[in-house]
Amino acid sequence: MSAKILYGKEYADKIKQEVKDYINNKNVGLAVIIVGSDPASQVYVRNKAKACDEVGITSTTIELPEESTKEAIIAEIHALNNNDNISGILVQLPLPKHLREFEQEILDEISPKKDVDGFLPINVGKLGIGLDCVAPCTPSGVIKMLEMENIDFNGKNAVVIGRSNIVGKPMANMLLKKNCTVTICHSRTQNLKYYTKNADIVVVAVGQPNFLTDDMIKKGAIVVDVGINRVDGKLVGDVNFETVKEKASMITPVPKGVGALTIAMLLHNTMMLDKRK
Ligand code: NAD
Repeated sequence: MSAKILYGKEYADKIKQEVKDYINNKNVGLAVIIVGSDPASQVYVRNKAKACDEVGITSTTIELPEESTKEAIIAEIHALNNNDNISGILVQLPLPKHLREFEQEILDEISPKKDVDGFLPINVGKLGIGLDCVAPCTPSGVIKMLEMENIDFNGKNAVVIGRSNIVGKPMANMLLKKNCTVTICHSRTQNLKYYTKNADIVVVAVGQPNFLTDDMIKKGAIVVDVGINRVDGKLVGDVNFETVKEKASMITPVPKGVGALTIAMLLHNTMMLDKRK
């Protein structure tokens, strides 16, 4: 039997409705700083602003020139930290090449109370010790989706492929908090299939098309594809969808999968930060 396909929009719509109900004419602001003119980043930032409009969050986009200095960006962050109309701040990554080495230094200037991406060490630490916190949007969205599907996480073997700070590591922490037995696999993992074959839940965040194939999973596994790759002008995930869907019990497609959840969780995180103001 073919897997149930988990379309992100269905869950994202519910999350957005919750945010909409909360906003209800309140003034809640999200500020996005974008430096330079990377076309993909421009699209992401526009989509974020559009999503804010949909739920009634006031979005402010601060566009800084490519050649901006670290100091100029930090000055903008400080102004937003002190602006009571702003509940959440994010700096669109990646920064232009000359600023990459200062990325963490720049992010660290965001007030932890406005860290809508949950990237600051203090918020990463809170997630790590299981405290209530605003956490990175993509893995938070994955958990919300699986919760809405009433997945019983207790004692399940969960394998996360990828150990990035924005997806893999927080995903693993969240699954651990849900009482899964969690394995993190990465580029140096030997015999990856040994781990994935044994997994009830597999989250793939590698960034390689067709990375996970049906021979790597066990029958009935839940497969979440976080990957976004462009092949011949088309978006594809990290999972060989056509074959894996015949063996899995649930699977997210790409496009139309996890991407919608990420944006919805950005709005949700903004709401959570506003509630805690
Ligand atoms: P990243 O490049 O920072 O990390 C990739 C990870 O994959 C690394 O930890 C690496 O160890 C692992 N990896 C690489 N080759 C491997 C191999 N052969 N075997 C096992 N592991 C291997 O990527 P990221 O930022 O975590 O993003 C991963 C993918 O998810 C990308 O395609 C990205 O575009 C996508 N993404 C999607 C969303 C969304 O909203 N859907 C959000 C963030 C990232």
